[in-house]
This record gives sequence, C-alpha cells and structure tokens, in this order.
Amino acid sequence: MAARAAGLTKAYGSGETRVVALDAVDVSVTRGEYVAIMGPSGSGKSTLMHCMAGLDTVSAGQTWIGESELTALKDKHLTRLRRDKIGFIFQAFNLLPTLSALENITLPMDIAGTKADRAWLDQVIDTVGLRGRLSHRPGELSGGQQQRVACARALASRPEIIFADEPTGNLDSRAGAEVLAFLRRSVTDLGQTIVMVTHDPVAASYADRVVFLADGHVVDELAEPTAGSVLDRMRKFDGAGRRS
Ligand code: ADP
Repeated sequence: MAARAAGLTKAYGSGETRVVALDAVDVSVTRGEYVAIMGPSGSGKSTLMHCMAGLDTVSAGQTWIGESELTALKDKHLTRLRRDKIGFIFQAFNLLPTLSALENITLPMDIAGTKADRAWLDQVIDTVGLRGRLSHRPGELSGGQQQRVACARALASRPEIIFADEPTGNLDSRAGAEVLAFLRRSVTDLGQTIVMVTHDPVAASYADRVVFLADGHVVDELAEPTAGSVLDRMRKFDGAGRRS
C-alpha cells in the first residue's frame, strides 16, 4: 500500500458553524496506481488530499504513507516524511522565476542536501520531454512546459507518492493532455504512484481508478475509467442530488 486513510474525519469550526468536510472516509492507494479523486465543489476533495499528504491535521481516523502512520507523527517527523516521501504538483506551477528549469527540478533536493540520482534524473527529464529546455527560465517556457518542469520536480526525488491538485487546471486542453500523458507514463513506465484531484472527466480518464466524493463521503468508484463512463457517473450523481 502506498497511502491509506481509515475512518478519516475532518471538521472545520465548532458549534453552529461546524462543517464536516470528510466523514469517516476510507481510501487505499496501491503502489504503482494512478487514482483520480472527483466530486462536486465542496465535496471534500482538497481536504482529503491535504489530510492524506500530511498537510492538514485530521479530526478523527488515521492516515498512512507506506508503513508510516502520519496521524501518529510529531511535527518534525511529519515535515521530514513529507519532504522525503511525497511529491506535490499544484494547479499553479509554483516555479521560482529566477532559476532555470533544471535548477527548479533539483531545488527540493538541493534544499534537503541530498544528491540527485543522475541516471534517474536523466530518465525523468526524457520522460517529461524537457531535454532541450533545461537552461530556460520559467518565463521562457509555455504553461504546459512549466507544468512539466513542476512534474519533473515532484518526480526527481523518487517519492513514494505524488499528490496532484488540479494539475491541468491552468492549462489549455492540448498542454493539459501533454501533462496528463506524462503523468500516465510516469506510472506505467517508472512505477510512480499518483493521487490526482480533478473535476475534469478527460483528466480522470488517464487514471487507473476514480474515487467519487460527495458531501464528505466516498460514494462510488470506477476502475479503468473513460471520459464517457466518468461523465455518465457524474450525471447519475447530479440526478440523485436533484431528486433528494
Ligand atoms: P473540494 O476540494 O471538493 O471543493 P474542500 O475540501 O475544499 O472541497 O471543502 C469541503 C468542505 O469543507 C466545504 O464545505 C468547505 O467549505 C469546507 N472547508 C474547507 N476548508 C475549510 C476551512 N479552512 N475552514 C472552514 N471550512 C472549510
């Protein structure tokens, strides 16, 4: 298992303003699996990702990355585990404008004082197709290329798992397709594990499995998704929502 949540509950606020964002959610992610998390706005997708990645505390329940239980770790150990075992890709590319593409890719390892595995780095750079752009700064790259730099940065330290939050949210469909194809290849060819939050059925169709959230509950799952089957499932929920 690469990541797991058991009975994960997260509430914000208290008393009358209390909002239960996640209500006893169970999710497991196998090594080498690409999982998409979908659901309407406010269904708890970001909260689930943040709790599973140790970026936010939980109200009840447990989360694990590999063998390590995040919910049992003290801050210092949690920070270290996040740095060593987890890669992040955000909707905004979050690159440093004054650094080259290559410097951005190796920055987390430079900060951590670890050396990049050169052969692995070469493989990652070739997989993202950035070989000819390594000395360019983010401002000299297209949005799609910038997000591929961010993907390479997440992959460079060989994290146990990558969490991606709407990674194609800022990209046009062609650049988005490039990034999604790359994420898919990193799972199929490099054995990476990815959890991706998205509202886009096309993006979700690149995953091995889709987990659907609604009102803080896991309401359905879909294996081997296609854009069509994901859309059908979403329509079913919309209909159910309107009837209730
Ligand atoms: P999604 O990512 O699916 O849009 P979120 O995880 O952001 O959903 O939010 C789930 C629920 O939790 C929503 O009702 C949202 O308003 C609430 N929520 C999220 N973050 C906070 C916060 N920091 N304080 C209070 N409520 C929050």
